[in-house]
Parts: sequence; C-alpha cells; structure tokens
Amino acid sequence: MDEAAQRAQNATNPAPIRGAMSIDVEDYYHVSGFEGVVQRADWPNFESRVAQSTNRLLDLFAAKGAKATFFTLGVVARDNPQIVRRIVEDGHELASHGWEHCRVFHESRQEFRDELRRTKHLLEDLGGVEVKGYRAPSFSITAATPWAFEELAATGHRYSSSANPITGNRYGCPEEPHTPWHDEASGISEIPITTLKIRTLSGKTKRISGGGGGYFRLLPGALFRRAAEQSVAEGTPPNFYLHPWEIDPGQPRIKGIPLPSRLRHYANLAQTEARLARHLQAFTWDRMDRVYANWIA
Ligand SMILES: [Zn+2]
Repeated sequence: MDEAAQRAQNATNPAPIRGAMSIDVEDYYHVSGFEGVVQRADWPNFESRVAQSTNRLLDLFAAKGAKATFFTLGVVARDNPQIVRRIVEDGHELASHGWEHCRVFHESRQEFRDELRRTKHLLEDLGGVEVKGYRAPSFSITAATPWAFEELAATGHRYSSSANPITGNRYGCPEEPHTPWHDEASGISEIPITTLKIRTLSGKTKRISGGGGGYFRLLPGALFRRAAEQSVAEGTPPNFYLHPWEIDPGQPRIKGIPLPSRLRHYANLAQTEARLARHLQAFTWDRMDRVYANWIA
C-alpha cells in the first residue's frame, strides 16, 4: 500500500481505542445503597455469589482478550482466596477496594489507615503481587477526607481511582477534575471515572456518567462508546467500571430496600453481561496500571 492509500485508510479507520477496564469486587449485599437495611453483622446470613459472578467476568474477559483491574474488598478476598489467585493468574491487576466497604468520609483517619493496611497485606499475601491501586467505596474520597491521599501514600499505594466527577444522587463530585491528575504532596495520582460532556436543553454543558456502573445498565450503550471516543479526543484513555453483581440476575432480592436504591440496583441485570460483551468488543481493554502508566508516578 502506498503512502497516500495508507493515509486514506487511517482516516477511515482511526487507531483503535485502548481503555482501562475495572471491576469492583464485592457481593450484592455489600453495596452502600443497602446500608440502611443490611447491617454488616448480617452479611454472613446472605448467600455469597461474588465468586461465581467474578468467575463469569473472568471467563468473558478471557474470551474477549481483555485485561482489567480488580479492586477487591478485603472481606471478599478473605472468604474467596481462589478468586484472588485467578485474577492474578489470568494476568489482571489486583487492587484494593478497602476492607468492608466503609465509605471513607464515615471513617476516622486512623480507621482508614488500618483498613488500607489490612486489605493490602491480605491481597499481597494471597496474590503474590504488589497492590498499587485503590478505589474508595462509592467514590467516597471528598473534601471531607483531606488526609486520604497522604494515607494512601503512607500505606504504599501509588494511585487512586476514587472520583466520579458527575452530578449524582448518592455520589459524584462534579467540581473535581475529569482527567487524571497528580497530587504533588503525597505523590498519589487520581484517575477519575470517564464522564460524557453533553449540552442540556438550556444550552449549558453538563457531565454525565460515561464510565459504567448503574448508569451502564440504565442508559444506551452508544452513549458509553461516545464517552470513550470523547475522552480519547480530549487526550485521556477511557476508564470504565462495573461490579460482579451487575451481571447476576439470579441474585436474591433483599426486602425493605427503599425504592430509588431498589430501582437502581435491580435495573436490567439480565441484559448487562451481553451489553458488557459488546462494549469489550468495541474497544481494546487493559489494566489501569498499564493504560495510565504515564500518569502514575
Ligand atoms: Zn463498591
């Protein structure tokens, strides 16, 4: 192919998009939206389904040739060490989602530090790899936790993916940067979840989720493909996330959950695995530590 023909082909087939895929490894009854109804002391009474759902995700990633980062809860690792081992054996990145899904702004600095340490030690013991990444439960590193990055650095973490800079009802920090940034004081890099910039009817611009979670089950898949393309056009690879319970329509229904949380948690569970398979097909997916290597010190 001569140069002109190659240029013409490049114009119609731009370089494939490579993004970061991530999974927050937790069970359906660990979610913050159920906190008012499900107490931590009740967790042992529920049927654990995180191992089978995570195995399904690992099978899907293997079939599609995708790699991902698995932000794993300490209690899940403790009770399912075989899952931690498979994550590592399959070539994925093992990372921390804290010990038992406490939102950081509900903890003291000391409690946060203890939880980070305990989780990192266990994951590293089981996985035999260094744990560099951390994602706060329900994106709970906020202005109320100014010590969080210092504690991440003090416990040997290198990056955080704990911001979802959208306007949400339960989380979201629209005023925070929507591209990766480096905190000089601690040395920690923050890699936010991808957002999609849209124009509202009144002509204002607004950022909505373009990076997965419950929104991925509720909104059209095309919107998430558009978000990935927009992110790359703005100079950042997309950062996408999902939970194992989001591909498990057979999970037991928990009684007494308030309507908004119920609608959000149970919407379109049966469609999500196929939707994720299409999203895996649309782009090339890799681990956060590789995709954002240039951003992580
Ligand atoms: Zn979580």
